[in-house]
Amino acid sequence: GSDRKAKSASPSYMTFDDIGGQLRAKGELKEALDFLIKHADIQKLGIRPLKGILLTGPPGTGKTLMAKAAAHYTNSVFMAAAGSEFVEMYVGVGASRIRDMFKEARARAVKENKESAILFIDEIDVIGGKRDGGQHREYDQTLNQLLTEMDGIHTSESPRVLIIAATNRKEMLDSALLRPGRFDRHIEVDLPDKKGRLHILNIHAKNKPLAKEVNMEQIAQETFHFSGAQLESVMNEAAIYAMREELSLIEQRHLSQAVDKVMMGEKTDRESTK
Ligand code: ATP
Repeated sequence: GSDRKAKSASPSYMTFDDIGGQLRAKGELKEALDFLIKHADIQKLGIRPLKGILLTGPPGTGKTLMAKAAAHYTNSVFMAAAGSEFVEMYVGVGASRIRDMFKEARARAVKENKESAILFIDEIDVIGGKRDGGQHREYDQTLNQLLTEMDGIHTSESPRVLIIAATNRKEMLDSALLRPGRFDRHIEVDLPDKKGRLHILNIHAKNKPLAKEVNMEQIAQETFHFSGAQLESVMNEAAIYAMREELSLIEQRHLSQAVDKVMMGEKTDRESTK
């Protein structure tokens, strides 16, 4: 509903079928989630509960989509935050914000009659970067609070909280985060291969009128090294090119033009960060 904080609720749900490519990552994530769902049996066997899953990989590959799909798959409440939101906070504020997030996740699960809540933390490296002896004390407190909350999760508790975190700089993470019982499940979400790109392009072409001549295979071929986010951009830009010409169908040349544009955009971005 609209009374909820914008950050904590995603209006449209996401399923694994809405995510193109990423077959291995989706499989691994589902397997880990199946574990969560069947937690009664796990308890009997004395298996440690699954608390944290870390998604790693380049920007725009669908990590956020995966976390959302995970919430739908497990019928969980979904809440999201980004590490960068904690950056300019006064000492202690980040820590209490973490505490509140866990509280709110549990409260919402109870209210919505769900057995679990998924807390997605994007850019975990911002708060979970290697601690370097007091230089970033405010982040330390935030990170410590996150670790405390995670350590406090019990298999038997209801609702269950699962943390899914994402980073594209795994090597930056403090080892405390990666210890067993914390983010001990790592799933790589890589750039899509050609088949994956075709799948993603087709997903984003679904609501767009394409000319019969369109050869999406060829576009998938031309977009080597593109992320899902860039492929989404290609479809969108192509539609804009068609619209500018007042055409009602997207043609192959619009798609090729869009590929060039997105590729150029990338290059300019890279140049400017050099
Ligand atoms: P970041 O690391 O920048 O946060 P991310 O990996 O979380 O990126 P998302 O936010 O999940 O990426 O993806 C951004 C957008 O790109 C999505 O909203 C979607 O439109 C598109 N996209 C990315 N990957 C895929 C995919 N595998 N299938 C379909 N669409 C995708």
